[in-house]
Amino acid sequence: MALSSSDVERAHSLLAVAPRVVVLTGAGISAESGVPTFRGDEGLWQNHRPEDLASPEAFERDPRLIWEWYGWRREKVAACQPNAAHTALARYALGRDKIDIVTQNVDGLHGVAARSVAGDDDPRPALPIELHGNIFRLRCTRCGDVWPSREAIDAGSEETLPKCPECSALARPHIVWFGESLDREQLSNAFKAAELAAVCLVIGTSGVVQPAASIAAVCAQAGGDVIEVNPEETPISAIAQVSLHTSAVEAVPAILGREPSADSSASV
Ligand code: NAD
Ligand code: ZN
Repeated sequence: MALSSSDVERAHSLLAVAPRVVVLTGAGISAESGVPTFRGDEGLWQNHRPEDLASPEAFERDPRLIWEWYGWRREKVAACQPNAAHTALARYALGRDKIDIVTQNVDGLHGVAARSVAGDDDPRPALPIELHGNIFRLRCTRCGDVWPSREAIDAGSEETLPKCPECSALARPHIVWFGESLDREQLSNAFKAAELAAVCLVIGTSGVVQPAASIAAVCAQAGGDVIEVNPEETPISAIAQVSLHTSAVEAVPAILGREPSADSSASV
């Protein structure tokens, strides 16, 4: 659907005057980077559904199979680059105060964009709370240690699967699987950010995966305005002041591309 310039203007002005902003992103922001989604044919891998693979029971039953799947997904994601929406968001976050980015994505592309836009500066303001973890981080199944990892996975046998550098026990992806709880502190920070924000910008999420989907509702209940970017109508559309029913790459640079306030001294 074509982008209406009045919707872009409304979204832009709401963001320009908001003292504090929370951004919630989902798989849709990475769709135009080529990251496979869980829905549709690409979600299927060797006839397994993600729901049957991304669980602690599945890992317990067959860690080699689960690592083979994650190895395949890591390769796919490693070949993807942040798109114009990730970059515009990173630039916007680095150029203003009081912004929290909360993502359900595990692809790490917000971090890649933040580091590339920040260069030698501190990328932290543009790094997200990764509610569901990160596919390039591993966790020890025994001591709980977490570390970054980008090497190829050798899932040829149980012996070659990734092991903890501290205690040599089997490692697993640092991902929140079906049936597991989200990190309490991260979740509480995300909801605090939603309550305090004057605007919640929701990009590319179906709004059905809880509790992340409630972030927009919490912001709205506390008096904030919701702006949604999604080609499809979602449950969030009903509470959004502005719904931009188009792709993230088209909408996000259009609403964030300019400086957040007219008197900002930063240059583009
Ligand atoms: P979802 O798959 O439920 O919904 C994606 C939404 O993005 C849909 O509403 C769709 O209409 C919208 N969309 C599609 N293309 C778009 C585009 N170009 N621009 C903007 N929006 C677009 O995704 P979800 O809400 O994030 O929940 C899925 C779950 O699967 C999450 O738990 C997530 O951790 C996991 N997952 C993550 C990734 C990733 O890291 N990139 C990929 C697949 C699944
Ligand atoms: Zn360990």
